[in-house]
Amino acid sequence: MNTSEFRRRGKEMVDYVANYMEGIEGRQVYPDVEPGYLRPLIPAAAPEEPDTFEDIINDVEKIIMPGVTHWHSPYFFAYFPTASSYPAMLADMLCGAIGCIGFSWAASPACTELETVMMDWLGKMLELPKSFLAEKAGEGGGVIQGSASEATLVALLAARTKVIHRLQAASPELTQAAIMEKLVAYSSDQAHSSVERAGLIGGVKLKAIPSDGNFAMRASALQEALERDKAAGLIPFFVVATLGTTTCCSFDNLLEVGPICNKEDMWLHVDAAYAGSAFICPEFRHLLNGVEFADSFNFNPHKWLLVNFDCSAMWVKKRTDLTGAFRLDPTYLKHSHQDSGLITDYRGSNKVNEALLQRINSAKKIHLVPCHLRDKFVLRFAICSRTVESAHVQRAWEHIKELAANVLQAERE
Ligand SMILES: *Cc1c(COP(=O)(O)O)cnc(C)c1O
Repeated sequence: MNTSEFRRRGKEMVDYVANYMEGIEGRQVYPDVEPGYLRPLIPAAAPEEPDTFEDIINDVEKIIMPGVTHWHSPYFFAYFPTASSYPAMLADMLCGAIGCIGFSWAASPACTELETVMMDWLGKMLELPKSFLAEKAGEGGGVIQGSASEATLVALLAARTKVIHRLQAASPELTQAAIMEKLVAYSSDQAHSSVERAGLIGGVKLKAIPSDGNFAMRASALQEALERDKAAGLIPFFVVATLGTTTCCSFDNLLEVGPICNKEDMWLHVDAAYAGSAFICPEFRHLLNGVEFADSFNFNPHKWLLVNFDCSAMWVKKRTDLTGAFRLDPTYLKHSHQDSGLITDYRGSNKVNEALLQRINSAKKIHLVPCHLRDKFVLRFAICSRTVESAHVQRAWEHIKELAANVLQAERE
């Protein structure tokens, strides 16, 4: 597809989507198909020759749509709301075009910075305590996760790392395995299934606290479990409180549970995946009271805030709890660099390579990142763009040669 066809097909696709949305009420909300319906309708292997765009769009209507559950039909009352809106669809299109991967600031500065600032905006809309905001010099901050399930898992793993470090600092002879065997986490028996799964993935016991007559986790039941488990030699370290359970939108009593978590040095994660968007309304904000006791908080803009999947907003009071938990042990890395004694041995060629990379990236005509191959500092030249031609590579090579000559010249002087 070339640019002019893209312009045409893009407009057609917008029309198709607009028609779909406008006519969705007329479609049957749940499909009639039986399991396995699709396989006989399409070829067994990818075709050798491409289909035309028209054929593909026709297949969408003929073959795909009959198997779609229409989540945005006004007759869809299942599971939970999943957000979808025209602005979010257009934004997805722009994201697809920019197509960056924001794994670090340098990987695309606007990506990281926009996320940080938007998460502050959203945090302020919820009136989260200031300690959850990044702002200019805060210790907290928000980060977008793919789903609430991931947010709970990330919180549990961070809490696990934190308690292991704390216990090992006090008793260095304790192994990680010995500690993990004794760790125990809690949630209400009404918590989302992803909470139990986080315990399974994280390799720790997760106990369900019986909820009260309003399906809420209360202090007394949590306290009872805590006392029993501590007496049995277990180490309570993590609690998930749900604000708005998926089953019946019940609320755990955060004002009761929060102080217990703080007193017992347990990480408190608040899962408000479902109901969280409502706290933006002043008349519902009181339902979030007690979040000041939490270490991490999460809700899903992709459920109720018109942002298409996936966008799950997570905040922590201490960013370093997350960044520290998932970093490869930095002291080990430092150690291997500083103590290897190799640095002085190999610095000759590496220094020149580093100087060359610096010149290349300051000139900003091309962009490279380095890597280490064993002891060598290497400039990686990866062919990345779909539109790259040999002329681009030639030009880049001329540029690199010129800068390399300058570096060598400077070395000699
Ligand atoms: C929907 C829901 C989840 C899971 O959300 P995902 O983003 O799909 O992982 C977790 N907790 C609660 C309370 C939910 O309602």
